[in-house]
Amino acid sequence: MALDAAWRGAVAELRAEVRSFLAEERERGGYRPMVDGWVQGVDPEFSRRLASRGWVGMVVPREYGGAGSTALRRWVVTDELLAAGAPVAAHWIGDRQVAPSLLRHGTEEQRRKFLPGIASAELIFCLGMSEPDAGSDLAAVRTRAERHPDGRWVLNGTKLWTSHAQVAGAILLLARSSPLGERRHVGLSQFLVELPRDGVSIRPIQTIDGKAHFNEVVFDDVALPEDALLGTEGEGWRQVTMELAYERSGPERISSSVPLLLAWGDSLRAEDQSAREEYAALIARLVMLRRMSVEIAAELEEGSVPETRAAMVKALGGEFEQRVVESVSRFFGAVPSFSGTELETQLAHGLTHAPTFGVRGGATDILLGIVAKSVGAR
Ligand SMILES: Cc1cc2nc3c(=O)[nH]c(=O)nc-3n(C[C@H](O)[C@H](O)[C@H](O)COP(=O)(O)OP(=O)(O)OC[C@H]3O[C@@H](n4cnc5c(N)ncnc54)[C@H](O)[C@@H]3O)c2cc1C
Repeated sequence: MALDAAWRGAVAELRAEVRSFLAEERERGGYRPMVDGWVQGVDPEFSRRLASRGWVGMVVPREYGGAGSTALRRWVVTDELLAAGAPVAAHWIGDRQVAPSLLRHGTEEQRRKFLPGIASAELIFCLGMSEPDAGSDLAAVRTRAERHPDGRWVLNGTKLWTSHAQVAGAILLLARSSPLGERRHVGLSQFLVELPRDGVSIRPIQTIDGKAHFNEVVFDDVALPEDALLGTEGEGWRQVTMELAYERSGPERISSSVPLLLAWGDSLRAEDQSAREEYAALIARLVMLRRMSVEIAAELEEGSVPETRAAMVKALGGEFEQRVVESVSRFFGAVPSFSGTELETQLAHGLTHAPTFGVRGGATDILLGIVAKSVGAR
């Protein structure tokens, strides 16, 4: 198959390069590996070191400050970063989905304004989709964007679970730009909103591990310039649906707990027969899921938007990530400490993050519903 040949040949060198960079970083204490590094590992300096090597904004054309590379090469780099538990959260959302959205829907001015900051990892983006009563049912979004006669927009509403808003320089936001009618998917629009800003208050929400990576973000009569609109007014639903293929199919939907899996593998002895069998079963699953994910990356590169298969990757990937934590926990057999051995620390991170695997980016029930509809089951 063409993908195999390209895969083995062209990217082996890139993999080796990323691995050697990461090994050097760990050796000099540049980062400590962690489960879910793409969510909890906010380290702008680390992101900038990656950017200086051309590993952020890889698919952004050179004229906008990016590497002008391919989605497949980006897949390889992100796969290595996640497996090594690197702290990549600061640039993740901008790199993964805001940049492709700007390239697809943005004006030339918007691209020139935001893409160089994303590609250099100087600009942290966050994503304002979910709301207190709009999660799985995203079309229930109530945040309002009203256009004033002078062209300006005024925003009012509340976003919830907004990862990294407290450190972000901008938010890509979904709002209702015309009153809610019978067809709820109509009348939504996307906006690029620079932060911090008058009228925007950001309240961190503490999680079970005592950290606070996500937030409630309240917009109170926030004035936006006319050119804050991304794409076409009223077409926000269609635009967001396209973005979800990027959001749901990447290696981060499979590999969040791989640092734990690898630490477990390193600890297994020859006589741990049943643990080794479970480890092998997990590795087999991982290989299959990575294969699905990389095929979607190839399709995205060709311009198609395989939403249903992206939903499959997210649903199966979330189950896999959870099973890794459950399996290691079962064989470990004790309550792990955050300051124990490498395996124990990763397990502690895994146990506190696992409840989110099947919810974030779309709950598993909803994703399975999307898949079922596409194969004819109602
Ligand atoms: C770690 C993390 C980071 C996040 N970061 C962001 C972010 O940066 N920006 C952002 O906008 N959002 C973010 N989110 C929010 C995330 O997208 C939502 O949590 C998700 O879409 C689910 O919405 P909800 O939490 O309102 O749950 P609900 O939609 O209320 O779902 C709760 C449960 O009910 C089930 N359920 C709901 N509807 C149905 C149905 N019709 N049929 C069957 N079962 C159903 C779901 O499967 C789920 O198990 C984040 C979430 C997490 C956990």
